[in-house]
Amino acid sequence: MSRIEIALFNYLSDNFGILLHDKHTKKTIAIDAGDAACYNKVLDKNGWHLSEIWVTHHHWDHTDGINSLYKRWNCKVIGPANNSTVPIAHLSQGLTEEDSFLFADSPVKILHTPGHTLDMINFYLPSENIFFSGDTLFSLGCGRVFEGDMETMYKSLNKISALPNKTIIYCSHEYTKANGKFALSVETQNKALISRIDEVEEMVAANKPTIPTNLELEKQTNPFLRTSSPLIREKFNLLNSSDIEVFSALRKAKDTF
Ligand code: ZN
Ligand code: FE
Repeated sequence: MSRIEIALFNYLSDNFGILLHDKHTKKTIAIDAGDAACYNKVLDKNGWHLSEIWVTHHHWDHTDGINSLYKRWNCKVIGPANNSTVPIAHLSQGLTEEDSFLFADSPVKILHTPGHTLDMINFYLPSENIFFSGDTLFSLGCGRVFEGDMETMYKSLNKISALPNKTIIYCSHEYTKANGKFALSVETQNKALISRIDEVEEMVAANKPTIPTNLELEKQTNPFLRTSSPLIREKFNLLNSSDIEVFSALRKAKDTF
């Protein structure tokens, strides 16, 4: 059994908060920290002491709680190394592609996945098959392209696609149900997607989080990882276009869906 315990909870209207707890050393990590009170509540409930915050990107809904958590816990804050248009409070170590460090005696690898923001990094724990995708890859969707261009975002998603299929994915927003509506609109006959949407609707109705997801399931159902799908290509009249062109058409269509 894994020595890492994961607490998943909601904050703000649709953000996911995540805490990782190493049962051996009692070290506890927050993945992002957009709301200190919500993180403190889960820490206190479990009797955990916050050791570090791992920041994915500079957006306020991922960083607003850092200052207050830092003051209470004196925790270490690590996050994106560069390209941040907004500085991240108390950042003591900047991380980028191919950086790695240890947590619970296991490696944590950094993927730089720009596109939503230029500074976006994701945390990969290969020994646990767990990946924290921030606002790059969502369940059945992907982040809006705010700072990078379409090609940058496409390449970042490709980088994630190249991880093992069994990779368990935690993203930072509960958008799955809405994403499913768009996904179905561009690939109406995808059977795996149809059954996934049924499951998601049941989860949402039962007030359960729709994550984690996994890479294999995303490859079968997430249109942004399916730019080679003939159904999607036909939908956009892009049968012979490049994957980047199909991705770009999908992302633009989703922006106004
Ligand atoms: Zn964001
Ligand atoms: Fe966000």
